Amino acid sequence: MKVIEKFESGKGLRLSEREIPEIGPGEILVKVMAASICGTDYHIYSWDKWSQKRIKPPLVAGHEFAGEVVKVYDDVKRIKVGDHVSSETHIVCGICEFCRTGRSHICQNTKILGVDIDGAFAEYVKIPAANAIINDKNVAPEYLSIQEPLGNAIHTVLAGEIIGKSIAVVGCGPIGLLAVNVAKATGASKIIAIEVNDYRLNLAKELGATILINPLKEDVIKRVLEETNGLGVDVVTEMSGSKNAIESSFKYLKLGGRMSMLGISNENISIDAANDIVFKGITINGVVGREMYKTWNQVNGLIASGNLDLNKIVTHRFSFDEFEKGMELMGKGTCGKVVLYPNN
Ligand SMILES: [Zn+2]
Ligand SMILES: [Zn+2]
Repeated sequence: MKVIEKFESGKGLRLSEREIPEIGPGEILVKVMAASICGTDYHIYSWDKWSQKRIKPPLVAGHEFAGEVVKVYDDVKRIKVGDHVSSETHIVCGICEFCRTGRSHICQNTKILGVDIDGAFAEYVKIPAANAIINDKNVAPEYLSIQEPLGNAIHTVLAGEIIGKSIAVVGCGPIGLLAVNVAKATGASKIIAIEVNDYRLNLAKELGATILINPLKEDVIKRVLEETNGLGVDVVTEMSGSKNAIESSFKYLKLGGRMSMLGISNENISIDAANDIVFKGITINGVVGREMYKTWNQVNGLIASGNLDLNKIVTHRFSFDEFEKGMELMGKGTCGKVVLYPNN
């Protein structure tokens, strides 16, 4: 089968051939219909510090996908051949303290598809049946392939109350763009998109952002305070991982506000804990993955509601053969979600 893999340490990914995976107990084999490029795939492609530490080549990249089940092991009951599925990409142990207390998203033994084990940039991918999410066959595979990052966005935006609240989405890469759209679909009052890339800022507008701020062009703290009667925003969803952006967001978060952080920063950040956390009485929460499987129910429900603009979020489509074009766009940031198809 055709795969896109990290063959050896170093920059890049390559198109190559592998045997179709054999499945074992509890596993299913899925024929991939569409797979989308995640920031993580781009990190692996560009071989940044994180991937140098974490990735052990050879590895088939990719984890966001939708496909059709072509084989199930004898012991698998819930999933049937012919089902259309996507996958929760965190493969968890089920026996640690966190798994046993309904918090598998922070399982201490998590393995990630396409990061720690072979992923979905392949014609076929094997996954644990337990991780399979059954898809609605009436929704296009390209939209179903982005449910996993959509789950990240939902998990972040809905980590606290949102109806009638003002929200700043800091960083409008694909997950930030999804967060803007989720905030719109779930009743946020004012959606402020903060992003240095004008292409993505404009996309944020199309997806429901009402105020657009480019930090390279204006003072973010000043503008957010102006737009919120000097009080600041109720909710910050931090998607940028940028030290500067994070530090300023604590300055324009309202008293009693919520800071939900998903972006991964490479540097330590410096916060005036007394004045910007304690005396402000704010709540900070770290967001990792998706709650298993509550977030997936929200993903399915929001897609079914028809209130998301998935057609605007998916901006580019390529075959596996042209994956380099997708990576280039990811590097430049002139895209929303980029979807790859195993065949033309
Ligand atoms: Zn992803
Ligand atoms: Zn566990």
